[in-house]
Amino acid sequence: MSDEIFKKIVSHAKEYGFVFQSSEIYDGLSAVYDYAQNGVLLKNNIKDYWWKSMVQLNDNIVGIDSAIFSHPTTWKASGHVDAFNDPMIDNKDSKKRYRADNLIEDYIQKVEGKINKEKKKQHKRFGENFDEKTFLLTNPKVLKYQKEIDLVNKRFSEALNKDNLEELKNIIEDCGIVCSISGTKNWTDVKQFNLMFKTQLGSTESNSTDLFLRPETAQGIFLNYLNVQKTGRMKIPFGIAQIGKAFRNEIVARQFIFRMREFEQMEMQFFIKPGTQMKWYEYWKKIRLNWHLSLGLDKSNYRFHDHEKLAHYADAACDIEFNFPFGFKELEGIHSRTDFDLGNHEKFSTKQIKYFDPSDNSKFTPYVLETSIGVDRMFLAIFSSSLKYEKLDDGTERTVLKIPYILSPHKVAILPLVKKDGLPEYCRKIKDKLKLKFSTVYDEKDAIGRRYRRQDAIGTPFCVTIDHQTIDDDTVTIRDRDSMKQDRIHVKEIHSFLDSSLDINNWLLNSD
Ligand code: ATP
Repeated sequence: MSDEIFKKIVSHAKEYGFVFQSSEIYDGLSAVYDYAQNGVLLKNNIKDYWWKSMVQLNDNIVGIDSAIFSHPTTWKASGHVDAFNDPMIDNKDSKKRYRADNLIEDYIQKVEGKINKEKKKQHKRFGENFDEKTFLLTNPKVLKYQKEIDLVNKRFSEALNKDNLEELKNIIEDCGIVCSISGTKNWTDVKQFNLMFKTQLGSTESNSTDLFLRPETAQGIFLNYLNVQKTGRMKIPFGIAQIGKAFRNEIVARQFIFRMREFEQMEMQFFIKPGTQMKWYEYWKKIRLNWHLSLGLDKSNYRFHDHEKLAHYADAACDIEFNFPFGFKELEGIHSRTDFDLGNHEKFSTKQIKYFDPSDNSKFTPYVLETSIGVDRMFLAIFSSSLKYEKLDDGTERTVLKIPYILSPHKVAILPLVKKDGLPEYCRKIKDKLKLKFSTVYDEKDAIGRRYRRQDAIGTPFCVTIDHQTIDDDTVTIRDRDSMKQDRIHVKEIHSFLDSSLDINNWLLNSD
């Protein structure tokens, strides 16, 4: 997808009240965004869909809401003070700062793009007869590209695993990567940069304590593990879920709400017996992918990506990547975090954090399987893949946001055909009956066609239109956003129609 399309997505988000740049009247604050009147509804619906799938559907998962601040030792114990770094590099000419790992990843993606281009060319040439598998295994150009990718990948993952910053710079130089602003290869050395924001607690400088804004919500779960386990009488395996803000001083914050300095996470820590982590790792990979697929976007939008470099706490980790407008990127992480966090909190706090398993009288520090997804990235995934420009039979074009109905900001719009003859009053009555259960909008401005377009552009699945016939026989038309088909139904049927069309069971329990 081109930059042009991405720009359209960003401007649609602004024009239709989904996402605004923060502090825009002061020329904005970089990588901080506000959710607007429609955006907040979509965001809440995403959170609700996740919460229901985690907490409400699972008897052994409970939710909490921990504070953003926590005792400063938390971050020493978790390893974030020492190891929550990204490698950064500056271009000496443009003074622009980059993440060294991102530069290399983007380079690999560029070479992958070349392979895809070759593939497409051949596909076009040979049509149905194109044998993709043989082509990829034999075409000299493709083989050359693939060899390069494999080589860079190998060096890259070795450099990351050994924290070899010099080698990262060598790879950047050997690949001939240039700065997108200056066009030069005049790079500084690679340095580590800690991503946590620091602040202070206390009224005077002398008695203040340094605090960190949490860079992940997970630690709030670990700190509450003992309390939840005891008060909830939870038996392993069990999970604790949480949705909340996280903060990272990202080196390069770009791509709209994909990488922000203040963002929101939906995390679940699943506490298990040591030695069972690979079973649960596979289990949660499957469950989480199914959750994404249940929303009905095309399967080809998702892929798993195993981590080249494991985080300081993990013994296995992968991402669910989504095909964003700028290519496949991480949407959600699934991490086997071992007993790293609980073990370290036990050490630093000197409080026992052990689980006694009565089934075999064993006592252990639980292992943890984590699923962690960014609300904002999920928002971007849904929003960007839903925005469509459709050519209609009459030659006109419509812009339609084909958000899965269950997530749409508004579920139904109530529209009087004209602004008189008692139609607006009739509409109001319908709206009042529906609005508590279904987010409902009323719109009487402009011709009906334009009003349909406005609802299409914000993703409202259904429009109910009240016309003169309604006054005579209490029937209305109900229009479906995607098919644009209109049916005439009795006003009394609207509620049950919406109920069955928007029944969450049809989404969440639909795993294929
Ligand atoms: P990346 O490699 O893209 O920086 P990460 O591996 O650091 O991401 P995790 O620490 O695994 O990310 O965080 C879990 C989830 O939180 C990510 O999958 C992503 O959806 C979300 N997330 C992380 N950083 C950001 C950010 N700066 N802005 C928005 N969402 C984020």
